[in-house]
Amino acid sequence: MSAKPRIATVSLAGCFGCHMAILDIDERILRLADLVEFDRSPINDYKTFTGRCAVGLVEGGCCNEENVHVLEDFRRHCDVLISLGDCAINGGVPAMRNHVPLRECLEEAYLKSPGVYNPGGVIPNDPEIPLLLHRVYPCHEVVKIDYYIPGCPPPADAIWSAIVALLEGRPVELAYAGLKYD
Ligand code: SF4
Repeated sequence: MSAKPRIATVSLAGCFGCHMAILDIDERILRLADLVEFDRSPINDYKTFTGRCAVGLVEGGCCNEENVHVLEDFRRHCDVLISLGDCAINGGVPAMRNHVPLRECLEEAYLKSPGVYNPGGVIPNDPEIPLLLHRVYPCHEVVKIDYYIPGCPPPADAIWSAIVALLEGRPVELAYAGLKYD
């Protein structure tokens, strides 16, 4: 069995841009592959955890019940949990719907928008579809989050610095110049 620390990543209510930023560490991805094993992650397409993880990186906030269950699962399996990017930290673009009642959002999307063809007037309600929450929650309002890396998406160098610091047992100290708040 591998002695390497394990890393998990997930995209909740996000656009995968933060995962693209992880891949933006360029050739350092090879060094990362030497340092860690990827556990549950879209990067290797593992859908479930296979063991305890040293670090979990979470992109996106919680917009539905499945997001909540997945985030709680990450908290249970990861020693350190990082909110990666503005959607995880404050809800981001998906949280723009927080100012509008959920019913109005659904009606706009499925009944009233220009170009919508829905003669039955049915808003999708299949039990297989995760139930939407009444608003979008940032991750720290659902579980304890240990670190935050801001940006939309965060710079790859900031992600790299944070991962390496944690793997080396150092506190995460990100240089202000390397952080983005947009
Ligand atoms: S923070 Fe930006 S890049 Fe990351 S998931 Fe949200 S919208 Fe996408």
